Amino acid sequence: MVGIAISDHETHIRLSTLPLLQSPLTHSLTTFSMHLSSHAPMPRATISEHLRSHGIAPTHQRIEIANALFSRCEHQSADQILAAVNTHHSETSKATVYNTLKLFLERGLVREVIVDPNKVFYDPNTAPHHHFYNMVSGELTDIPADALEVSGMPTLPDGMLAESIDVIVRIRPRAG
Ligand SMILES: [Zn+2]
Repeated sequence: MVGIAISDHETHIRLSTLPLLQSPLTHSLTTFSMHLSSHAPMPRATISEHLRSHGIAPTHQRIEIANALFSRCEHQSADQILAAVNTHHSETSKATVYNTLKLFLERGLVREVIVDPNKVFYDPNTAPHHHFYNMVSGELTDIPADALEVSGMPTLPDGMLAESIDVIVRIRPRAG
């Protein structure tokens, strides 16, 4: 259990109260999750299958972008993903990467972590979890969902349900 000492950290709670428009995808993701946790390079066929299972046609560029996201299994900005894709395939434009990430986001393939409007990370781990954000290094790391408990849930507006609670614990090194 992570104890949040308010004097040492700033906490930020983003509570999504949007109505749930799409029911969660109920595909078998066992093979995919195995690859995701092993950090091993993922076969292109597995990526194609994963894209298809989310209703996304696996074009060459989409596979490259998904590969950049999932093979590193890290939180990356759109610009970092663009740089990773263009290491091997310099023809991919910034617009293509941004549009593809938007599509992945809409289809629930990745999750967006908005630290602030200028710092948006794409997270290949779509399972519920929270984050530490190091304000000095700019690094975002995972906090397991069960390591943090949120109490004192506010009354939700009429007709709304709480879809998710994302906590970002902002950290910095102790002075001295
Ligand atoms: Zn994460």
